[in-house]
Amino acid sequence: MKRQDLTGQSFNHWTVLTRAPNRGTTTMYLCLCTCGSERVVQSGHLKSGASSCCGCIKPAKKTHGQASGKFTKKYRAWRQIRARCNNPNHKNAIIYNGLLCERWNDFEAFDKDVPEPPSNEHTIERIDNNKGYEPGNVTWATFAEQHRNQSNCRWIEFNGKCQLLTDWAKELGITDSTLYGRLTRWPLEKALTLPNGSRVMPANNVLAIDRNGVVDSLTGWAQRLGVSLSTMHKRIKNGTF
Ligand SMILES: [Zn+2]
Repeated sequence: MKRQDLTGQSFNHWTVLTRAPNRGTTTMYLCLCTCGSERVVQSGHLKSGASSCCGCIKPAKKTHGQASGKFTKKYRAWRQIRARCNNPNHKNAIIYNGLLCERWNDFEAFDKDVPEPPSNEHTIERIDNNKGYEPGNVTWATFAEQHRNQSNCRWIEFNGKCQLLTDWAKELGITDSTLYGRLTRWPLEKALTLPNGSRVMPANNVLAIDRNGVVDSLTGWAQRLGVSLSTMHKRIKNGTF
């Protein structure tokens, strides 16, 4: 029988990061506490609630209407944000310290300003990454949505110019997702220079190329010659293929 893997699940203040080596026959997990510290915790202690946090919260003290001892997703999200932003020892302190607004140091205020998460799959994120965790600048997003947002924040260097994907898109008059799609299919140069409305066959559908009687697709030739597709494009353009 396949052993149940708790990775990604949350138990009280713990979020399970990954499996850790067994201790004897006991299954162990590396877990992240909402305060930002990591510990290895027994599987059974997670499930039973015998371990609910790293010890940063006194178990007897009931907090914020968590009558059942189960912490809400919103409360856990707030604890994580606060740890990231206020704890100088947090592993991501250099990115996040100072980003939490004064008002949200108080959970009651955060609770009032932020709606409940639509589902358990949603995590909180900032809408504008140039601004902090503050009213009007956070939203609940699924992993896929977050991933999309992060890719828009990708820095791309081309022709001596380095700017965000989203700014390249604006410059080309296309949407972020169109540019993202281009980048997954085309060489950088083509993706960043062709104007709106350009349609280019995906590289692997490019017509077969005949060289010395051998016919193969562009991708096939690139593989045969051990070069990248963009090198192939350059060689064809320059007539050196
Ligand atoms: Zn803790």
